[in-house]
Amino acid sequence: MIVTRFAPSPTGRLHVGNLRTALHNWLLARKGDDDGAGRFLLRIDDTDAERSREEYVDAIRQDLAWLGLEPDAEYRQSERLDKYDAAFEQLKEAGRVYPAYETAQELELKRKIALGRGRPPIYDRAALAMSGEERAAKEADGISPHWRFKLDREQHIDWEDGVRGPQKFDPAQLSDPVIRRADGSWLYMLPSVVDDMNMGVTDVLRGEDHVSNTAVQVQMFSALHEAGFGPEHCDVIDSFPRFGHTALLVGKEGKLSKRLGSLSCEALREQGIEPEAILSLLARLGTSKPVEPIADRQVLIDGFDLETFGRAPAKFDDAELERLNAAIVHQLDFDEVQGRLPEGMDAAGWHAIRPNLSHVGEAGEWWQLVTGPIDQPEFSEEDRAFLGNAADALEWSDNPWGDLTAALKARTGRKGKPLFLPLRQALTGMDHGPDMSELLPLIGEDEARARLRSAAG
Ligand code: GLU
Repeated sequence: MIVTRFAPSPTGRLHVGNLRTALHNWLLARKGDDDGAGRFLLRIDDTDAERSREEYVDAIRQDLAWLGLEPDAEYRQSERLDKYDAAFEQLKEAGRVYPAYETAQELELKRKIALGRGRPPIYDRAALAMSGEERAAKEADGISPHWRFKLDREQHIDWEDGVRGPQKFDPAQLSDPVIRRADGSWLYMLPSVVDDMNMGVTDVLRGEDHVSNTAVQVQMFSALHEAGFGPEHCDVIDSFPRFGHTALLVGKEGKLSKRLGSLSCEALREQGIEPEAILSLLARLGTSKPVEPIADRQVLIDGFDLETFGRAPAKFDDAELERLNAAIVHQLDFDEVQGRLPEGMDAAGWHAIRPNLSHVGEAGEWWQLVTGPIDQPEFSEEDRAFLGNAADALEWSDNPWGDLTAALKARTGRKGKPLFLPLRQALTGMDHGPDMSELLPLIGEDEARARLRSAAG
């Protein structure tokens, strides 16, 4: 059974970068779902009370629902603090966390000194060397400690990454991470591990900006196992989750970070981008599979395979998203869009107009060609006579456009553009647009004749 999770912090709107991670995790869970047992979890990482906002929690749920990536269960870290406390106490007993008293300024100074000496800025473990009296003195001065996780420098870190292949880290090259602030609040690192264990997450799939977190977290998983953080705290897992780190998403011109506001799920929805276009792009970007407009999610699920992911940054291109969107719109059925169409537009209307749209929201402008009023151009005298002829020749049948153009061809000898363009202009006010054989029946006989007569002057 596959269990994945998407773990956003509710400090802003979801953007293409985190939608991509959500989608990958959803696809992986659904792909492992043959027996109906794959699970995709939403975990709200809201331990940072100051920056987390309820409105963003709601927005995350809405965005995922709009994309059709609904989770099988939702958890909130702020409701699970007792679990983190339990893990913390166990790690403390096992000697894997220690108190530290340095201020931010002291740490910054140490960092600068190390860099100045050409050394990597690894925490020097000064706090670990403190004696009981030294600690007591700090406490007596009213200084509460923050807490660091003690990496085991003897235990080298490696894992087989689903995207990046074998990964190795030397723990001596890493700082013992701060896991808890002096006020008792949690930083990201330990709660995430506790949750992954507790929720039986089998696959942690996220962006490569988390690779160095994984190095530390791999040791946290081991430390918790060794400390006996067992079945009474967590349900299932007795082995490590698999890890996969996807290459970052970049813009055509480099980093996406500055543009993320305009690439939020909300902004894309307001621009008229369809969920299927976003999913089609984000499922395949950075993989060896072609990006194609795929409206059927099962095709995306079946084709999802970490083996196809490359290590080079995945390039996000707005123009590609727009192209996919138009292609997706052209595939949408009437019942999928009905609620978003102008009043009175029926399945035949949607079918006629759909090929002209890049966004569903443009349907109204085109539908006005049917309902009127339309703006006709000025016609030459010759064209006016031709259009008068057309008004007389118009006969209503199953195929009024085919019959009309055939009759006019026979009567006037016109063909090609001189035959079709004035008719289109008189009937729609436009030089181009939907297929006239579909549009004319929608305009209707009386209105069509009236438009031809008014054009004839
Ligand atoms: N809240 C973290 C983030 O948004 C989660 C990372 C993870 O997937 O573990 O970066």
